[in-house]
Amino acid sequence: MQTKPVVSLVVPFYNEGAAVDVFFETIGATLATIDTITFEIVCIDDGSGDDTLVRLLTMSRSDPRIKVLELSRNFGKEAALTAGLDAATGDAVIPMDADLQDPPGLIVHMIEKWRLGADVVLARRTDRHTDSMAKRGTANLFYKLHNRVSHVEIPSNVGDFRLMNRASVDALKRLPERQRFMKGMFAWIGFRTEVVEYERPARATGSSKFTGWKLWNFALEGFTSFSSAPLRIWSYIGSFGTLLTLAYLVFIVIRTLIYGIDVPGYASLLVSVLFFGSLQLLSIGILGEYIGRIYMESKQRPVYVVRQVYGDSHEP
Ligand code: UDP
Ligand code: MG
Repeated sequence: MQTKPVVSLVVPFYNEGAAVDVFFETIGATLATIDTITFEIVCIDDGSGDDTLVRLLTMSRSDPRIKVLELSRNFGKEAALTAGLDAATGDAVIPMDADLQDPPGLIVHMIEKWRLGADVVLARRTDRHTDSMAKRGTANLFYKLHNRVSHVEIPSNVGDFRLMNRASVDALKRLPERQRFMKGMFAWIGFRTEVVEYERPARATGSSKFTGWKLWNFALEGFTSFSSAPLRIWSYIGSFGTLLTLAYLVFIVIRTLIYGIDVPGYASLLVSVLFFGSLQLLSIGILGEYIGRIYMESKQRPVYVVRQVYGDSHEP
């Protein structure tokens, strides 16, 4: 008899104690309907402060498919995902959220497309009515701006929920950056990609871990990781400013020659000093964003630290 292909689900948990039971109940029911595949469920406890780990371990004791990775502190979702992808041994890997916002029902369709030859199967939300107006608006703006300035196009309304075959997971693992903007990295590797669509439900329990400030930093990460346009734009703005200044200079010199020295001019002087001063600060700030990232990268610290691995039946 042929051995069944293995599919790894990679699920990051951060303070999701309330979600653990519901998650496994739902996922268990779904996986039971797919008997052509052997599943492995890699759960990452991203330094939760609640009883997430205890609950995960309880689940893993009764289910050998569950492997639990405990990180030494909260490293953030991107790092937790990376840890999970590194630990996953499947022929295909599906990262998904613990809050059931990534409907398990889609797994069947993803696997179908994979077996028909797709390397990567993306899950695209058809609508985002469960997100607030502000979140939807800013997300749209982000995708538009990002895809305009960056050299890799991030498909809009696609999250981390996707299926990746072994080759694409291995390709992803070769990206060494410490600051991990997963959406961009997923897009960067390419591969033959298919899409399945779904409606994103609201969170099963608890509340989103991504607040406004976190999202803003996330967006900054996206821009700086995949585009150097914000850096280069200053040469153009600078050149344009220089040209304007030159023209103005000629104008002033000629005017002074013809009409003599004109003392008033306080307003225009102040405005131009302030304007160029703030422009310079802004551009230095943007330089700083990149230099800060170069600094972080150059330290070569690991993306995550594992405190302990539990129920690891797949490792040699
Ligand atoms: N998460 C994590 N570490 C963090 C923040 C979030 O592992 O520092 C996990 C969280 O437990 C969930 C997933 O990432 O499984 C998505 O988080 P959330 O639902 O808060 O994000 P949203 O759906 O609002 O984008
Ligand atoms: Mg969520």
